[in-house]
Amino acid sequence: MTTPFPTGALTDLHTKVETGERLNEAEALAMLESRDLNALGAIASLARARKAGNRATFIVNRYINYSNYCILSCQFCSFARKKRDGDGFELTIDEIVTKAKEALKLGVTELHIVGGLHPSLPYSYYTDMLRTLKALDPQPHLKCFTAVEILHLGRLTRKSTGEILAELRDAGLDSLTGGGAEIFAPDIRPQIAKGKETAEEWASVHRTWHELGGRSTCTMLFGHVESLTDRIDHLRRLRELQDETGGFTGFIPLPFQPENNPVPVEHPPSGFDILRTIAVSRAYLDNIDHVTAYWVGLGLPLAQVALSYGADDLHGTIEEEHIFHMAGANSPQAQTTAAMVQAIREAGRVPVERNTFYEPIREWVGDAKTSNPTPPNLLEDNLATA
Ligand code: SF4
Repeated sequence: MTTPFPTGALTDLHTKVETGERLNEAEALAMLESRDLNALGAIASLARARKAGNRATFIVNRYINYSNYCILSCQFCSFARKKRDGDGFELTIDEIVTKAKEALKLGVTELHIVGGLHPSLPYSYYTDMLRTLKALDPQPHLKCFTAVEILHLGRLTRKSTGEILAELRDAGLDSLTGGGAEIFAPDIRPQIAKGKETAEEWASVHRTWHELGGRSTCTMLFGHVESLTDRIDHLRRLRELQDETGGFTGFIPLPFQPENNPVPVEHPPSGFDILRTIAVSRAYLDNIDHVTAYWVGLGLPLAQVALSYGADDLHGTIEEEHIFHMAGANSPQAQTTAAMVQAIREAGRVPVERNTFYEPIREWVGDAKTSNPTPPNLLEDNLATA
């Protein structure tokens, strides 16, 4: 796929990315402030092709929220409930197993499990949940808990983050989710997530998990009250942590959803804002291999377009999503494999079903489906897409 060559102020940045030189924060901010979306796409496409060739991935997974009761009241959150509310929920382990069994019939390779900071569930609930799911079937990858849930369990048990993570790993935890990062800027974070863990605490949980040999994803919630400079600050902190640990598998930018929460923002970020943020993320985060266009927040049509603006992944089939939909997302609850494949093909990319670590499981070439894909030959793909 050919891409237009940027002109003007972005030409030097195009050259830098083309030669594999790292962008600094001022350059990333200049990109984010640009209105030349096609030029941003051209720069991001260079970075994307270097990492992913012409492939674009998705995972067959299922979300399970075990509860939406939470002791915190983050302003941006439309998901959490208090025990006094009439519409909160908490699942028994048997109910979680029932959902997992249904998902296994659909061929999921990952169960993605998060919840609020529950006021009273005992620590054994979390370890029993992991052990029970592993006993049910050891194959699906258990990607569970955000950093703040780990800190909550530490406070509950008076154990260190390292002890909690090691115990959860021994019970069956395979990787951590990237949620809860929100926006790191210390003056903005309390405006949308008062009382939540600090940026340093979020990083500390992921650092500890990476030191234990685990891997995780990372996120950024954007399009609320933060500035463009705050977004670059957030990306800088992620890139620095990745330089240190190398434990992040992918980055998932999350567009803010404004319904049913008190953050004084009327609309979710525009398509232009979403695409430029994905493009700059791809160009700047040179040490994170994958950038996801999260279709739940973008809608599949815009996520598909984002495959030409730096994204190389559409996330998962999901089956049941609460957090974004309770905040007003009007995307469907699930995507089929066929819809993912079609969206990727139409965008001119080669569809690949991946596992949690973005390793290929199945690749679609032409009309044929290959069950043993060849590992990506990035050099050849780069030449093919240049
Ligand atoms: S974002 Fe998470 S921690 Fe904050 S209120 Fe919602 S569920 Fe609780």
